[in-house]
Amino acid sequence: MQRQVISLRQESRQSEINIGHGIRRHLRKLVLRTFGQFPGKLILISNKRVFQLYGLEVMADLKTADTKVFPWLIPEGERYKSFRTFESVVNTFAHIGLERNDLVIALGGGVVGDLAGFAASTYLRGVRLLQMPTTLLAQIDSSIGGKTAINLIAGKNLVGTFYQPDAVCIDTQTLSSLPPRELVSGFCEMVKQSLVSSPKLFEQTVGLLQRFHMDQAILGAPEFESLIAAHCMFKASIVVNDERESTERTDSRSRRILNFGHTTAHALEKVTNYRYFRHGEAVGYGMLVAGELSKHLGLLSPNKLERLREAVQLCGRLPAAGKLDLTEIKEALKLDKKSVRGQINWVLLDDIGSPRIVEGRAISNKVLGLSLREGLGISRRRIERSH
Ligand code: NAD
Ligand code: MG
Repeated sequence: MQRQVISLRQESRQSEINIGHGIRRHLRKLVLRTFGQFPGKLILISNKRVFQLYGLEVMADLKTADTKVFPWLIPEGERYKSFRTFESVVNTFAHIGLERNDLVIALGGGVVGDLAGFAASTYLRGVRLLQMPTTLLAQIDSSIGGKTAINLIAGKNLVGTFYQPDAVCIDTQTLSSLPPRELVSGFCEMVKQSLVSSPKLFEQTVGLLQRFHMDQAILGAPEFESLIAAHCMFKASIVVNDERESTERTDSRSRRILNFGHTTAHALEKVTNYRYFRHGEAVGYGMLVAGELSKHLGLLSPNKLERLREAVQLCGRLPAAGKLDLTEIKEALKLDKKSVRGQINWVLLDDIGSPRIVEGRAISNKVLGLSLREGLGISRRRIERSH
């Protein structure tokens, strides 16, 4: 087993990110190292599927004569990242008498992590939190950086906090049970992150995807563990300098650059009622659209755009987008919640590893339409019909 430790030092808290194959079986040691002594009570928040796969092992490792471990399972699915589930979780904290020095462990994908993180950050104004992400997306993205959230009927992630976990424990072995589409989705987020970080991380990511070419064996490769560590390190480096995602910053190291591909992705998810694409798949298309826009604005060279396209392709097959309605997508884009003073902020690329934030007003309707059509594979005939 290999363990990598990345420290994320911020004003008030320090998070340690631990990465290793099978590391979930050594959680006791990790908890002791992080907190000095063992908490009196631990609550393990997960869902049934993940708990059945990994929860019992984790519980067995943590339980001792004087430590109580309470499992609390939430139903599976994005729609349970809700006020109602939040209420049930914090009521459970109260019921078991959770104290500030006790520990909440979130074992699962981003849904479990966001919800448990939100509950931990608000209960008693903040209790200890350990994130154990089990999807690829959660391991390289949602568990790092301290954003927590629940959804409202009005939109996703509208209520939340910034709350760094005390520790993150990433067991890459848990990825082996992921359904194929979850992997594709995670690979897309990986490519996204690499495109805004550096040519080095991009080459490292694409090189490995190319070498294994959708073979599950990639998950067990030591290089894959190092790749996850490199991604966590990159995300952490952005977050430490811009923890709260300042809307004033427009530089190439502001947290906003992590939204590369996400403007279109959110619109695609919205027009398909969040039922057709996995989030990372929509990001896959979002990157293609952002790449086309970058090319049309004269920022990204055609051969770098080709590299971007190849990278997205290496993530796996995306659900077809060619039959979507362009007008609806454009309408949804206007409602992007990351808009500032009514302006969409596009994250585009000057080059691989060099993101640039561009205001929507700098992009003509024609260039936007063309880029959406090219990125999504929507034919001209279909667009004419949709007008
Ligand atoms: P998810 O949590 O819904 O998990 C996807 C599916 O995989 C679920 O069905 C889950 O039960 C299952 N699963 C999880 N781990 C598994 C494993 N090891 N083996 C088998 N099945 C497993 O989805 P996700 O993609 O992990 O996360 C998406 C959520 O993350 C969204 O709610 C999004 O808003 C949020 N998010 C948050 C941040 C942040 O910074 N906080 C960043 C990105 C995304
Ligand atoms: Mg995302």
